[in-house]
Amino acid sequence: MIQNYLPRYTYGTDSFEKIKEVCSAYGNKAVLLYGEKAYAACKDKLIPALKDLVILHEEVYGKEASYTNIDRILKEEVIKDCDFLIGIGGGKALDVTKVVGDKLNKPVFTIPSIASTCAAVTKISILHNDDGSFKEIYRLKSAPVHCFIDPEIIVNAPEKYFWAGMGDTMAKHVESVFSSKNDVLDFESNYGVTISKLCYEPILENGVKAYEDVKAHHVSKEVDDVIKSIIIATGSVSLSVNPDYNSALAHALYYGLTVREWMERKHLHGEIVSYGTLVQLLIDEQYGELRRVYDFNKAVKLPVCLKDLDLEKDDPLNDVLDATIVNQELDHIPYPISKQMVKDTILKLEDYK
Ligand SMILES: [Zn+2]
Repeated sequence: MIQNYLPRYTYGTDSFEKIKEVCSAYGNKAVLLYGEKAYAACKDKLIPALKDLVILHEEVYGKEASYTNIDRILKEEVIKDCDFLIGIGGGKALDVTKVVGDKLNKPVFTIPSIASTCAAVTKISILHNDDGSFKEIYRLKSAPVHCFIDPEIIVNAPEKYFWAGMGDTMAKHVESVFSSKNDVLDFESNYGVTISKLCYEPILENGVKAYEDVKAHHVSKEVDDVIKSIIIATGSVSLSVNPDYNSALAHALYYGLTVREWMERKHLHGEIVSYGTLVQLLIDEQYGELRRVYDFNKAVKLPVCLKDLDLEKDDPLNDVLDATIVNQELDHIPYPISKQMVKDTILKLEDYK
């Protein structure tokens, strides 16, 4: 049996006006879970949009997508009576809402306040420990029912999330094409890998302008296209492909680089991954695509060399490479990649202009 939960969404600066109509198919008793800043950013538009619903309970999810926060929320007896939950915020707030909904067997709706990941539509939640370290991937019984995206809220959020989100999203195409290269794909994987082009071309074409517009808090066609790439296209890939095709070297190298404990304090996930995308393209001798992504990264100041990640050119990177090479994202790739190959490629990229 195959089930796919492709994203359903309402997009636009007036998208919240559809909340009542879309959610009321499930009842009218709602629980709201949100990030503090996200709610503050949404409330002027959200409160009128929710006025015909009964809000049984609302709560700030916490600061981390952790079981501590999930268990605390689940102790609220009143939430068992809700018809659905609405999560509002960034990836962590949405991941917490999705797990709470899953545990209660209640439908979940999402309102992303930033465009940085596809958490608003996917069927997994990335959970962390209270100290922020990675805990596990929680597989949900179903994906969020519907996602409401208001670009006006996204362009008023800190621009760094959009910037890093572009980097992470482009990797989805490069990595899924690479890891599926020599395989005969089933329909769903073929669908996902085909859609992955929409994680890539719209950003290469419109990303520079879109990023400028986001910095100016201005919604434009380019912004719309990139937000949909980051949330909807990436989500469609994640929901469709065999998990083997979700990531490859760009993410393996991200996990390797974050062995340096300061790395994630100084750099965002998608930022680090976007450097890995260049290494991924170069190791696979995709010179034409390397040119395009390198120039894009340079134009928006995503990393193109070790120095951009606060690493020295002569750093032996042994710890980084050891962790990269054993990372599970390299379990399914079209040919073996050795530590030396990655090292040589990183050095080659240092001289690329
Ligand atoms: Zn990623």
